[in-house]
Amino acid sequence: MRQAELQCWLVDDSPTVRQVLLHLLHEQAPTWQLHEFASGADLLRQLSNSRAPELILIDLNMAGMDGIELLRHLAARSCNSQLVICSGAPVRVLQSVGELCRALQLKLLGTILKPVTIQAVTDLVRLVEQPQRTEPHKPVTAPLQVHEVLRALQQHQFYPVYQPIIDLRNNSLRGFEVLSRCSHPSRGLVPPDAFIGSLEKYGLIQLHTFDNLEMALRDLQGWLEQGLDLELSVNLSPQLLDDLTLPEQLCQLLDSYQIPYTRLHLEVTESSCAGTVATRLDILNRLVLRGFHLSIDDFGTSFSSLERLQELPFDTVKLDKGYIQRALTDEACRASVESTLMMARRLDMRIVAEGIETLAGWNMIHNAGCDMCQGYYVAAPMQAAQVLSWCQQWQQHYH
Ligand code: C2E
Ligand code: MG
Ligand code: MG
Repeated sequence: MRQAELQCWLVDDSPTVRQVLLHLLHEQAPTWQLHEFASGADLLRQLSNSRAPELILIDLNMAGMDGIELLRHLAARSCNSQLVICSGAPVRVLQSVGELCRALQLKLLGTILKPVTIQAVTDLVRLVEQPQRTEPHKPVTAPLQVHEVLRALQQHQFYPVYQPIIDLRNNSLRGFEVLSRCSHPSRGLVPPDAFIGSLEKYGLIQLHTFDNLEMALRDLQGWLEQGLDLELSVNLSPQLLDDLTLPEQLCQLLDSYQIPYTRLHLEVTESSCAGTVATRLDILNRLVLRGFHLSIDDFGTSFSSLERLQELPFDTVKLDKGYIQRALTDEACRASVESTLMMARRLDMRIVAEGIETLAGWNMIHNAGCDMCQGYYVAAPMQAAQVLSWCQQWQQHYH
């Protein structure tokens, strides 16, 4: 669709707000076709008589039918327009309305806080007009079957790839997250979404994790010998936290490559710490006592707060890429990221923002005072053979 045909409707019961919004939108997106409505009922009437617009800006607090009720009607009509909530309601209300939209399966593009600023409208227009980025490697792949994962393990089809983690204070490279890939004989490159679940289901995840870690430690040993000062982050499936011997096994493996334990960050997802049982707490605490670092992965994907997580011995929080990407367009979500950052600082925890894909993302987290970042904007995960030359390039250009 050409952007010139983009229909944007806005509904607000205040004539002044409508006037300001129309003016700003007209300036920032002169080709959009703008239509204003003074009530939800007017908008629904128009919706019955014409095709749904690409974009609807909705005020929450309206006399008569309020914005929440309008959302319910839009959901009942399976409206697939992109929605923007535009409101002076407190941030926590906007966040909860965001959850409601997800529950109603409406497409919420973002929120704009009132009073509306030029910046908020410019961000919105840029977001709507920019082509959606596609991920470099994300084919939808069916999960590997039991015989396929067994063969992949026996024939060494799994291998680690490395994604840089950058310290935002001075642009220096802190290390890499180790992610796993499978080179399948007929399916080609298979992403972890298609095999981690299978490995867990068939009780093979521990074997795979140690194989992958061993390859990564061998690579790290080489890089340290070349004079690079790097740390590695590895993902631990929750199942590994059910084996009380995990700390000893990890220590043995690192000892055999003479890698100090402090060079390893162990990432555990937020959800796998929910209702943490005694065994997991035992393991997590012994890992920290030995010097390993612990990170909470995918923070922002469930409802836990940092206050609750501080009862666990983590020193790093990784903000989920979805949470970061939403924050770029959703002022309420951005406020939530900022308050997480403030809380993390108070708790003396390090924050890594994942999924930084653009300069706008980099600037947002940099300005918010985030410690580290990771994402395609810096580099996609790469194979071991590319790491040294990538490090040299990074140091030459950015450090
Ligand atoms: P994760 O630990 O949260 O890893 C980050 C994921 O985000 C990776 O996906 C990475 O490629 C992707 N990513 C990085 N930068 C960007 C970006 O700018 N934009 C977007 N959209 N995505 C980005 P990947 O490699 O497909 O891994 C997916 C998940 O699979 C990982 O999420 C992790 O939970 C799991 N995983 C990967 N390798 C292993 C492993 O060896 N063991 C275990 N247990 N889990 C693993
Ligand atoms: Mg991770
Ligand atoms: Mg993550």
